[in-house]
Amino acid sequence: MAVIRRWEPDSDGGLGVPGATATSRGPEHRVAALTLALLLVVGALMGTINLFVNDVLRDGPQRWIYGATMAACVLAAVPLLVRQRAGRGHTFCLVLLGDLIYLVVVFCIDDPVRYATPLMLLFPAFVAAWFLGRWELAVNMVVTTVVCLIALWPSYDSAVGLGVQVGVSAGMLNAGALGVFVLRRRVQRLLAATQTQSHLDPLTGLFNRRYLVAQAPRLWRQARRDGTRVAAMMLDLDHFKRLNDAHGHAAGDAVLRAVAASLAATVRPTDVLARTGGEEIVVLGLVGDADEAARLAERLRTAVATSFTADGHAVTASIGIALSRPVDGENAADELWRLVDRADAAMYEAKRQGRDRVASMRVPRARAPLPQETSTRQGPAATDVA
Ligand code: GH3
Ligand code: MG
Ligand code: MG
Repeated sequence: MAVIRRWEPDSDGGLGVPGATATSRGPEHRVAALTLALLLVVGALMGTINLFVNDVLRDGPQRWIYGATMAACVLAAVPLLVRQRAGRGHTFCLVLLGDLIYLVVVFCIDDPVRYATPLMLLFPAFVAAWFLGRWELAVNMVVTTVVCLIALWPSYDSAVGLGVQVGVSAGMLNAGALGVFVLRRRVQRLLAATQTQSHLDPLTGLFNRRYLVAQAPRLWRQARRDGTRVAAMMLDLDHFKRLNDAHGHAAGDAVLRAVAASLAATVRPTDVLARTGGEEIVVLGLVGDADEAARLAERLRTAVATSFTADGHAVTASIGIALSRPVDGENAADELWRLVDRADAAMYEAKRQGRDRVASMRVPRARAPLPQETSTRQGPAATDVA
């Protein structure tokens, strides 16, 4: 059973999105831009050598067109180096530009079969395969075939010879690009699966401690923006060792899974529900005030108390609540653990008061030196105690 409460990525973009493509937001963007810029500059520099080698370029305007094309390659690299970004459309245009540049080179060179091999099209083909989607790749495969045909046409007298050569050149280029595309998809899927697994607790399917920490900056940012508070609820199962001792660890594990499923069905979609220790679970979410947090904690307490395994085993939980009002300049990860420590202290107070109840760490008042006061409640008729 997999019980997963996950944050969806929002426009704010806090989460490293599993399966992010090479053209989505993120570091791959920079890599794509710099790779393209490098290819353009290196290609132009190598191509410029032909200007100084005798009998490679045709005489006349072709020499100027060739020189201008090499200069255009370097110019096309400038925006990439400056912005360090290359969107999907931009990258696709550069791929088609690469195909066009090859045609211009063929037109300007005296003996294209010798000095302008269709292998030059490998660069745009691989860029399309690694950075673009399947439609752009498919279009470029067709363009590659057409460009090979145009480039090789003048060098072959027979249609059969031309057909074979175009088939071999375009076939090899397209097969290589397709292979790179498939490899990239597999690598991305593998990375996405690994990332997802690294955020999950294998027993319950809840998120783990690592994911909780990863979400802290996003929650703190959102609370500052919306003027809300971050609430941490620490749940600890009551007398869980007794249950293990009486019925065995397998029964204990089944209880943990049942509790996880019940909690997952109870928390709000935006809450982060994570198993942080053996039988300790943290719920982190945004609330308007302490009452809202207390109501949610009470729902969680009831959810645990009413969850049973197939064998009829059940437990209760003690829950501690602590709230924080994030301010600018805080380190969210540090503040998270400070908040969880306070929720933990409140949870111990709930244990001390008799278990199966909710205790709140009172929000510190301006003149109160230490936030040590707690209140506990059990069930709907709960009363606060100092
Ligand atoms: P309290 O009400 O004071 O919290 O009592 P408790 O027995 O729950 O507390 P204690 O910390 O003494 O025991 C926690 C137990 O949780 C100990 C351990 O056997 C059990 N536990 C921790 N992780 C797992 C797990 O993954 N599976 C099972 N079955 N038991 C676990
Ligand atoms: Mg414990
Ligand atoms: Mg316990």
